[in-house]
Amino acid sequence: MTLSNGEPNFVGTMCSWNYVRYTCGCEKQSEFIQCEKWNGTIGKCKKLVKGGSKASSNYCPTHLIADGLGGTIWKIDPETNTAVGPSE
Ligand SMILES: [Zn+2]
Ligand SMILES: [Zn+2]
Repeated sequence: MTLSNGEPNFVGTMCSWNYVRYTCGCEKQSEFIQCEKWNGTIGKCKKLVKGGSKASSNYCPTHLIADGLGGTIWKIDPETNTAVGPSE
């Protein structure tokens, strides 16, 4: 298994962080996974590698606005990745 950027996925052989890739383009660490060697122990590899990344259909919280814009429902157009205001 390889990542979208072509790097091999090291899950299983080295301790790794999995990632979530949001629609806004941000990538955030999600679950940390111990490798086979250290699984079930208190140990981990000295170097932690990047594991797989999972695509989310959401924007990350950093790129969202609390309560929209004063409660107005703006939608994200998936084609252009821009905010579209409420139709009149
Ligand atoms: Zn490990
Ligand atoms: Zn973001």
